[in-house]
Amino acid sequence: MDIFKILKQLTETPGPSGFEKQIGATISELWEPLADTVGVDRLGSVIAVRHGEGAEPRPRLLLAAHLDEIGLMVKQITTQNGNGFLRVTNLGGVDIRHLYGQTVIVHGQRDLVGVIGSLPGWMLPADRRRNPFGYEDLAIDVGLPEQEVNKLVNVGDAISFRQPARKMLSKSVTAKALDNRASVAAVTVCLEYLNGRHFDWDVIAVATAQEETRLLGAFTSAFAQQPDAAVAIDVTFAKGAGLNESQITLGSGPVIDIGPNVHPGMADALHKTAKAVEMKISTSTHPRASGTDAYGLQVARAGIPTGLVSIPLRYMHTMVETIHETDVERAGRLLGEFVARLDDKFLQDLAKGMMKAD
Ligand SMILES: [Zn+2]
Repeated sequence: MDIFKILKQLTETPGPSGFEKQIGATISELWEPLADTVGVDRLGSVIAVRHGEGAEPRPRLLLAAHLDEIGLMVKQITTQNGNGFLRVTNLGGVDIRHLYGQTVIVHGQRDLVGVIGSLPGWMLPADRRRNPFGYEDLAIDVGLPEQEVNKLVNVGDAISFRQPARKMLSKSVTAKALDNRASVAAVTVCLEYLNGRHFDWDVIAVATAQEETRLLGAFTSAFAQQPDAAVAIDVTFAKGAGLNESQITLGSGPVIDIGPNVHPGMADALHKTAKAVEMKISTSTHPRASGTDAYGLQVARAGIPTGLVSIPLRYMHTMVETIHETDVERAGRLLGEFVARLDDKFLQDLAKGMMKAD
């Protein structure tokens, strides 16, 4: 499997939170040959079911990797000297400092290339030089006269960032939306890995909608699919410029989470799987909710035993997010091995683990 090719296709397909039709179609197509059924639910999550070979009724494992990305939305169309400019608001956790100088795609009646322009610092009034950024100052220029802009763009249209995926040295990749298309790619690797393996459980691969805004797709897909256990796959902060205290480095393998947001039995089983295949992993800890789909899955229905596997990533929520291809491949293989090792005793063991006094 050409990981870079998949990452390029996935990250360059737009899917700002709440406007995920296009990326949903791309993922459906990608998963079609790897699943028994693929569909898109009412919210926009892609749900692929792959049947195991165990006796019916088979237990079900849900794998969730969110498909949405941070983006912008048109709030107002303004005019200056006959040209139309777009005032915007954010979709998800956008850091305004990263916006100036970006090229975007405005998803109007047709896709329009736009730029977020700015003045050189020395031309700003003195009081704005240190802290020049606010959404009220920010305008997107699509290079068209007011009339054209009004014809082609409506308030509420989504805007995505326009940043191609690029290979860097030693298998690093930089792109926008690697949060969380890197994890969608890992789930794809997992589904392909299962082609060569016997496995008992049913696997429900879900590319969840609207994680960046409200973890929505995790709640709704876990409710509908009623899994017996679940694993969320997301990206996590790796050591890089400005973040030296992180213990996690690019290329050091997937990260298995421990903490109240995961079931200890799931974390343990993931660790055992990594050990069995001699895969290097790191461990992360979250003292409360992890801020990922793992929360939505864990509290869905009557509570679902949930694990969290993460891919190390630098510069989260910027247009130069950076990951290592090998981490994507290993995360996919870890998930595939985990699935292949699930047997009919797994749920009993999970329940026993919950009752253990030590
Ligand atoms: Zn994110």
